[in-house]
This record gives sequence, structure tokens and C-alpha cells, in this order.
Amino acid sequence: MSEGPVYTARCLCGAVTAEIAGEALWVSHCHCPSCQKATSAAFATYVGFDKAAVRFMGDEPRLFKSSPGVERRFCHSCGSPVSFEGEAWPGEIHLHAGFINESDQLQPESHVYVRSRKPWAKTEDGLPTYRMFPRDDA
Ligand SMILES: [Zn+2]
Ligand SMILES: [Zn+2]
Repeated sequence: MSEGPVYTARCLCGAVTAEIAGEALWVSHCHCPSCQKATSAAFATYVGFDKAAVRFMGDEPRLFKSSPGVERRFCHSCGSPVSFEGEAWPGEIHLHAGFINESDQLQPESHVYVRSRKPWAKTEDGLPTYRMFPRDDA
């Protein structure tokens, strides 16, 4: 059995890299207003991991606390968003899908926070949608 990482990751400029030694817990598209601003895009695709499985290498990502209990990290050099951590998800780190080199292998499971979805960002891909997060919608 290979002992190598399950995934590797690299920002646009290559200053921030990571190795991930575990499988994704989930993959989801987030349409919340903060993710739209943080990525300058219609939505952000996240891959949830056990925090212990992710090892950052290279330059240390810069930290921005976008709201209480939320830590967003990005490359200080090229600006690529790399991760999200929130108190509401203890023990997890959410990596931006585009940061992961093997992102073709990912299987998105849902769209969350579609209450702030951009009208032109179509989500008719057969995946379940949630107004906010699944636990809020329940
Ligand atoms: Zn970079
Ligand atoms: Zn979001």
C-alpha cells in the first residue's frame, strides 16, 4: 500500500501547498454572501477534511477572520483562497476545491445557502439544494 497523500494542493503561484492524508468528508457548493465576496465568484466549492489530515507546506497562508469564529486563509502572494474553518464545524477544515490538484476526482454532494444564490448561477445539476445549511433546513 502506498503511504502517500490522498490529495495534494497548490495555490495559483505555488507559494502555498498542502498534502492531505485522508479522504474528503463531504464536497459542497456554498452560495453564501461571504463566500461570494471571499472568492469574487458566484459560489465557492468546498471539500471538508478532518483538520488533522491536512498539512500545509511552503509559505504560511494569511488569515482573515471574516466573521466571529470564522477563519479564512489565502496565499499572501497570489491571493488564492485556500481554506475555511468555522466554530460550527469543530475539527474540520474546508479546502477550496480549486486549491486541490486532483479536484477532478471530487464528487460534489449539494448546494448550500441557495437563498443567496445569484439568479444567473444555475444549480440544476441534480444535486440537493438547501436554503441555508442542511441542519438549518431540517
Ligand atoms: Zn499563491
Ligand atoms: Zn459560504
